[in-house]
Amino acid sequence: MKAAVLVQPGQPLAIEELSIAKPGPHEVLIRTSACGLCHSDLHFIEGTYPHPLPAVPGHEAAGVVEAVGSEVRTMKPGDHVVSCLSAFCGHCEFCVTGRMALCLGGDTRRGPGEAPRLTRSGSGEAVNQMLNLSAFAEQMLIHEHACVRIDPDMPLDRAAVIGCAVTTGAGAVFNACKLVPGETVAVIGCGGVGLAAVNAAKIAGAGRVIACDPMPEKRKLAEVLGATDTVDALAEDAAAQVVEMTGGGVDHAIEAVGRQASADLAVKVLRRGGTATILGMMPLDCKVGLGAMDLLSGKKLQGAIMGMNRFPVDLPRLVDFYMRGLLDLDTIIAERIPLSAVNEGFEKMKKGDSARSVIVFDQ
Ligand SMILES: [Zn+2]
Ligand SMILES: [Zn+2]
Repeated sequence: MKAAVLVQPGQPLAIEELSIAKPGPHEVLIRTSACGLCHSDLHFIEGTYPHPLPAVPGHEAAGVVEAVGSEVRTMKPGDHVVSCLSAFCGHCEFCVTGRMALCLGGDTRRGPGEAPRLTRSGSGEAVNQMLNLSAFAEQMLIHEHACVRIDPDMPLDRAAVIGCAVTTGAGAVFNACKLVPGETVAVIGCGGVGLAAVNAAKIAGAGRVIACDPMPEKRKLAEVLGATDTVDALAEDAAAQVVEMTGGGVDHAIEAVGRQASADLAVKVLRRGGTATILGMMPLDCKVGLGAMDLLSGKKLQGAIMGMNRFPVDLPRLVDFYMRGLLDLDTIIAERIPLSAVNEGFEKMKKGDSARSVIVFDQ
């Protein structure tokens, strides 16, 4: 099968022929239909987050099951599935207390002594799987706890973006903020994750949804998805504008960029008792904080990895929201590209002026 391989950080991905192993007892072999380009991939491609190489990135995918291992009971060949990097073991303290997004995956990876899932055709050299998935590839071999079956009527290109961006943005609103109808929300950064958060805030009945982004094109998209107001996030008085228009600040500020300045802005726009939720992958030496007066005002700060999802429940619900016309995935997807255009897709992402690019594989 063809796959996009990260050989060296800072270099374009190389399209190579790889071989994929047979499903182990709890594994699923999937024919990949579509995979979104996520900013987290870019961190590994540029080398700001380390990873053993060579490796195949890509983690926002949907496809069709081709084969399942002997112990798999929840899906069968022909089923449509969405993958999620929050592979859960099912028996650790986080899984059994309902916080499965915090699970480190336990035995969902192939262990030492087992054949690697991916190898280079010809040389047989092992190629690392990234985030349990490696979805920039025509096929994926993943643990059954890294994907979930969805409604077969759901278009698979739109299903793909649910696997990371939309789960993260919507999960922040539904799971981490537990938004109460009428509460105000500011979303900082209107890429795929931020736009999903804006849309989810509207679905959840937010009183006011303020989208903050430096790019006018993205602020326009946010309005289509349900933003009631927009602010240029780089304006000198961006925080003051949000505080002014909400009469003291927002109940929830959601950061969806992964930069120090945008995380600081999320804290600055809170009203008394408000909560800042940081979703972005910031450079590893960054710190966000609350000052003495913030703490005396009952403000809170939290991380929400992957939207604190319970993806086997959340993903089918998000699919249902799309099918009912509530979740607007058509606006979130900016373009569909072939696997061979993956590097150009990431170049576009670096410029930051469009929403999501999605690789669509030939069927
Ligand atoms: Zn992602
Ligand atoms: Zn676990």
